[in-house]
Amino acid sequence: VVAAAGASVAGATYVRYKDPKQPIQARVEDLLSRMRIEEKIGQMTQIERHNASSAVIEKYFVGSVLSGGGSVPSEKASAATWQEMITKMQKAALSTRLGIPIIYGIDAVHGNNNAYNATIFPHNVGLGATRDPDLVKRIGRATALEARATGIPYTFAPCVAVCRDPRWGGCYESFSEDTKLVQLMTSAIIPGLQGDVSTKHPRGVPFVGGPKHVAACAKHFVGDGGTHHGISGNNTVLSFHDLMRIHMPPYYDAVIKGVASVMISYSSWNGVKMHENKYLITQILKEKMHFRGFVITDWQAVDKITTPPHKHYYHSIQETIHAGIDMVMIPFDYPEFVADVQAQVMRGAIKMDRINDAVSRILRVKFTMGLFENPFPEHSLTAQLGTKEHRELAREAVRKSLVLLKNGKGRKDGKPVLPLSKKAKKILVVGTHAHDLGLQCGGWTKSWQGQSGNGITGQGTTILEAIKSAVDKKTVIDYTEHPDKGSVSKNEDEYDYAVVVVGENPYAATAGDNLNLTIPGPGPEVIRKVCELVKCVVVLVSGRPLVVEPYLDTMDALVAAWLPGTEGHGVADVLFGDHGFSGKLPRTWVRSVDQLPMNYGDKLYDPLFPFGFGLTTKPADRS
Ligand code: BGC
Repeated sequence: VVAAAGASVAGATYVRYKDPKQPIQARVEDLLSRMRIEEKIGQMTQIERHNASSAVIEKYFVGSVLSGGGSVPSEKASAATWQEMITKMQKAALSTRLGIPIIYGIDAVHGNNNAYNATIFPHNVGLGATRDPDLVKRIGRATALEARATGIPYTFAPCVAVCRDPRWGGCYESFSEDTKLVQLMTSAIIPGLQGDVSTKHPRGVPFVGGPKHVAACAKHFVGDGGTHHGISGNNTVLSFHDLMRIHMPPYYDAVIKGVASVMISYSSWNGVKMHENKYLITQILKEKMHFRGFVITDWQAVDKITTPPHKHYYHSIQETIHAGIDMVMIPFDYPEFVADVQAQVMRGAIKMDRINDAVSRILRVKFTMGLFENPFPEHSLTAQLGTKEHRELAREAVRKSLVLLKNGKGRKDGKPVLPLSKKAKKILVVGTHAHDLGLQCGGWTKSWQGQSGNGITGQGTTILEAIKSAVDKKTVIDYTEHPDKGSVSKNEDEYDYAVVVVGENPYAATAGDNLNLTIPGPGPEVIRKVCELVKCVVVLVSGRPLVVEPYLDTMDALVAAWLPGTEGHGVADVLFGDHGFSGKLPRTWVRSVDQLPMNYGDKLYDPLFPFGFGLTTKPADRS
């Protein structure tokens, strides 16, 4: 028998929305019917961690808090520090009249990359190279556990962008230029993060399978990877047919897998900002695709709808909400936002139905994931941060993600140089990226733009350390960042071979937009100097294909390592033949930027290495 709202059960007032036995929709409707306008607007508001004092959470009935761009409570914050911070916020939220829990969101985009000691997995471009959805699903599961270890129940991942131009700074967050490959990985990582939906699960209804999983967010809807010249947040000029064919399909997969949320792109489609595109957000995503989770803006995106920002702020908010935005990531200007929305609702400029729909969607996710029953961090999961199992998994991902582009071809002897011998007498390891965990991880690691240095991640193995632990005890290894510096033997003949590790410096989004795609200095010089004298294997650490053709002849072998993360052992595993190379290019590797945009399937297709290319090696026979 279902007790009516307000009826008294054994002396206590029965509150339907608090009853976990009630159907989710009934709980949503019951709670919504009790909410005042300011409580509803509060649910739609997501503010930055720094602003989320108990007083602010209580005053504004804040529904969500985020750590934007790697905003950490302290540089080396432990899981316990994160948990304490979130617990405090949650207590404030639960102390309000209706006790609606907050949902804390973070960019856990290659592991829980904001937490010290977390396992950092390869960025999505590397995962695309593995062609291994089962692996990617396991990575999703591990990332969820490491996020939950810090008390975080929501990640702004996966990025399901189909990056069509590597000049885009967000390109490494994309699994591939190929829609089908992005779909394959989207369908794998979402069930990893959120848990598996059953075959009977109603289409589009969000699903999060309990406290070991997190709510995911497919982003950035839609066409973020298709902007002109790959410029971040720019205009994507495409016919409706091509937008639907190239950029939309991963969202179908995300919706089918019960994705909890979708983030809107800063970019425009044919001149219209995505954040005000009612047709694509409401008619297509919500109505045609039956998406019933919530739609969130990108960081401060409401401010960017009009140019200059804030010129017609009032109007921007109205446009955005009417377009179908449910939660607004408004890190700083929330008082202004809240007041504006309320005023507009009062005078009928923003429809109450729209507000109710937005709030229902947010509540649906919160109920679905059990936040009302388990609002606090689960302390038993603390030990899941950076476990041995997760590091092993990341190592497996690294070795499967490496793409062997050249192996001995074009040299005098032409013989394959990989796998390398572990019994060499003397090896030269050289280059800025050989011994730097920060460079190995790239952007979105302990900060939005990433950092260099070995201290940033707490744990991990650099490529140099991995090489040292892989080779014979008697092997001598000389290491230097640059051949002109350090203890490099003047007599290069002494070296059996050199491993040159160079690449890009960390970046994200706009800061990574790059129109020439050359290997940053001193990379080219290091390659030239070393490869002319010693047999050399070049390992390129980068978020995208760079222009390598001018140096290709001098190299004996070339490996694309992408942004592998903390587990450098995975690189040594394939260099020394404990495992074979198997990775395949997730992107077209052009000769020069003049060829861009050039993607798999184009009519004129003459790249340096085509999409799908990747030499293989067999594991070395050490018997
Ligand atoms: C990025 C998003 C990210 C958000 C929050 C934005 O700058 O475009 O991908 O989720 O910041 O950190």
